[in-house]
Amino acid sequence: MSRCPRCGTVMNRSNAMNALSRYDNSTYICSPCGGKECAESMRAAKMPNPKRLPHYCYYHNYAREKETVMISFGMDGYYSLDKSLRTIDYKELNANIGVTEEQAELMLMGSMWGWDCPGLQEGF
Ligand SMILES: [Zn+2]
Repeated sequence: MSRCPRCGTVMNRSNAMNALSRYDNSTYICSPCGGKECAESMRAAKMPNPKRLPHYCYYHNYAREKETVMISFGMDGYYSLDKSLRTIDYKELNANIGVTEEQAELMLMGSMWGWDCPGLQEGF
């Protein structure tokens, strides 16, 4: 039994009924999350990204520091992760996907204050 790495839902036994994550093209996620990723990527594609921020990164949940969450470029707030990822240090997960600490800080800023905030745009 495998669970969606984004929301933790038990996934369909047949991967044809699940979705391939468009972020890495190798991770299967559940169908509803596939739909969300599609909407996100369309929204993110319209968003200016002068700092060349990644599609997603990890950070710790501000309310619960021990919990790692995912931030997706262009989306407000954060996503909960599956239990298997939730307890891993976000810095380690970011290092695995090549996201720097500076990028993670900027991603956090975008998710909290809006992706059009001055700090994320050139000239500041
Ligand atoms: Zn899911």
